[in-house]
Amino acid sequence: MNNEQENNNSIHDFDFSLICEYFSSLHRQGPGSDEVTRQALSLIPALHEGASVADLGCGTGTQTLSLAQHTMADVTGLDLFPQFIDQLNQRSRDAGLSHRLRGIVGDMGQLPFERASLDLIWSEGAIYNIGFEKGIELWKSFLKPGGWLAVSEATWLTDQRPQEIELFWMDAYPEIDTVERKLKQLEEHGYQQVSYFTLPDSCWTTNFYLPQQEAQRLFLQRHPDNPTAQMLVANQRHEAELFSKYHNDYGYTFFVAQRP
Ligand code: SAH
Repeated sequence: MNNEQENNNSIHDFDFSLICEYFSSLHRQGPGSDEVTRQALSLIPALHEGASVADLGCGTGTQTLSLAQHTMADVTGLDLFPQFIDQLNQRSRDAGLSHRLRGIVGDMGQLPFERASLDLIWSEGAIYNIGFEKGIELWKSFLKPGGWLAVSEATWLTDQRPQEIELFWMDAYPEIDTVERKLKQLEEHGYQQVSYFTLPDSCWTTNFYLPQQEAQRLFLQRHPDNPTAQMLVANQRHEAELFSKYHNDYGYTFFVAQRP
C-alpha cells in the first residue's frame, strides 16, 4: 500500500466512524414512526409464531423492535454498521425479546438467507442503498411464495418540481420517482396485492430532523474544529431545510406487496 492509499483509507475510516457516531446517537436513522410501522403491518395478514421476518437496513432498530413487539414472528434485523447492530441487540435483550429478535451485520445486496425462506421482508428508508428496482427484484427470490414485501421509498408527490429540489435528488438518489411509476415497477417485477400510503410530514420533522438538532449540538461539541464533522452537520441541516421548503413535492411512500 502506498502512502496515498494509506491516507485515503484512514480518511475513509475516519469519516465512517464519524457518520456512525452521529447516527447511532439517534433512535431513527430515517423518517418514520411507530404508527406508520403498525399501519404497514396491518396491510398484511397476521404472521404466525415462528414466521421469518428480515428487516433490511434496520439501523439501530426502532422499527425492528416494533415488528417483534407487534407480531409473533422471528425477526432478524440486518445492517452494514456493526455499532447499529450492537445497539439493536442490546435493545432486544432489554425488551426480553432476544429469543426471537436478533441483529446481524450484513449487506442487503448479498443476503445471508436461504432463497424462498422469508415470510416478510421489511425495509424502512433503506432500499435506496441498492436502488428500488434492484432491491425488489433481488429480495423477491428470498421470499417464500405468498411472502410479503414492505418498503418505504422516496417518491415525488407532484408532477413538476422547482429546480433546486430536482437537482438535490438527482444527485442524492436519481431513482426517486412518482408513486405511479413505483407501482408499475412492483407490478413489472411480479408483485401482487400492492397497497401503499405516504408517510405524514411528522415522520420527517418531529421524528427525524427535530431530534437531530440536539444531537448536532453535542456532536459538534465533541468534535470542535473538525471539518468532516462540520460538513456532516451542514449536510443534515441542508436536508432539513429542503424538506421544510419542499415537503409538498416529495416524501416517503410505504409500499406493501405480495410475491405470488
Ligand atoms: N431503517 C432504519 C434506518 C434507515 S437509514 C430507520 O428507518 O431508522 C439506512 C440504513 O441502511 C442505515 O442504517 C445504513 O447503515 C444501512 N445500509 C446502508 N447500506 C447498506 C447495505 N448495503 N446493506 C445493509 N444496510 C445498509
